[in-house]
Amino acid sequence: MISQRAKSIDTSGIRRVFNLGAKLKDPINLSIGQPDFDAWPPLREAAKRAIDSQKSGYTVTQGIEPLRERLRTKYQLAAGTGEFDRDVFITCGVSGALTLAYMAMCDPGDEILIPDPFFCIYRDVLSLINAVPAYYDCYPDFHLKIDQIERAITPKTKAILVNSPSNPTGISLTQAELDAVVELAKARDLWLIYDEIYDIFNYDGPHAQLGSDYEKTLIINGFSKSFGVPGWRLGYAVGPNILLQEMMKIQQYTFVCAPSISQYAALDGFDIDFSEKVAEYRRKRDFIFEQLSQKFEVEKPSGAFYIFPKAPGDSAAKFVERCIEKNLLVIPAGGVFSQRDTHFRISFAAPMEKLEQGVEVLNSLAG
Ligand code: PMP
Repeated sequence: MISQRAKSIDTSGIRRVFNLGAKLKDPINLSIGQPDFDAWPPLREAAKRAIDSQKSGYTVTQGIEPLRERLRTKYQLAAGTGEFDRDVFITCGVSGALTLAYMAMCDPGDEILIPDPFFCIYRDVLSLINAVPAYYDCYPDFHLKIDQIERAITPKTKAILVNSPSNPTGISLTQAELDAVVELAKARDLWLIYDEIYDIFNYDGPHAQLGSDYEKTLIINGFSKSFGVPGWRLGYAVGPNILLQEMMKIQQYTFVCAPSISQYAALDGFDIDFSEKVAEYRRKRDFIFEQLSQKFEVEKPSGAFYIFPKAPGDSAAKFVERCIEKNLLVIPAGGVFSQRDTHFRISFAAPMEKLEQGVEVLNSLAG
């Protein structure tokens, strides 16, 4: 009655945490992958204005021109300046952009190389289109190991996907690491997909930028995290027109267009100064790392709002169950973010008092 495709996805890992969490009264919830601030006030006003000025119709599939123009400026895509014919179009979040990219790149059986640990949809959307995830290992420090990536390439590989700063590890790539993977993609004639949705959340250095000297690269990015609007479903894809045209064709018959109100409202977000928010998350990063590193094996995150410690004992799932018994929600890696179940993800996009309570529980359980 139900397709193998639908059955191929297993969301039970995250659901178990949420189901257990739903039973708790006022849990210490450090499981959520979204900012703990609401849409910035100018955006809220802009969304109301968009509704009142009757912007509720479909937009063109590729997104409204003023928004594309702002993004062309951000990515220096002014006509005729780049080596390749690149452009940007608006999608239903980074999730939408990724789905379209996979559909445009892969035939059944094709492989996309994704990091392990990974953000779960990288793997699961592939099974929806009968393509196959292959993994390059990033343990134990969660940086890229070019030889690992190279070894994982097969004749079926279509693309290498990289994510910086990373969900779930919080590690940011250096410019040299990103450049090296571009060189590898170029040498092996593969697509390179760069998910930089956390680009403004880098705490220790500049965000690694994907240059445009190799044609087969695609940047996916969006507004969910920086503008505080994950429910507005707004993202974009930056890449060569040969690929974007195909992605837009698929968008036209699936998502149709990104939400119109969100597109118009986003125009008012480009002048927002994020620095105070980023500084606040840096302070939270410092606090949680300082507290946990005394008892846990843990890498210092350099971006996003996650930290990814090794669980004591032999199973992160079991450790997380003990956390939940103490009213603390975090997510075990196994089945959700990794092929291994040794680590767990904490989101520090939460009020300081919750972080304090969370580290107290964790350190008491670490013994
Ligand atoms: N990529 C990463 C690394 C993410 O963490 C998320 C959201 N958790 C997404 C993409 C999806 O974002 P969007 O809301 O734009 O679909």
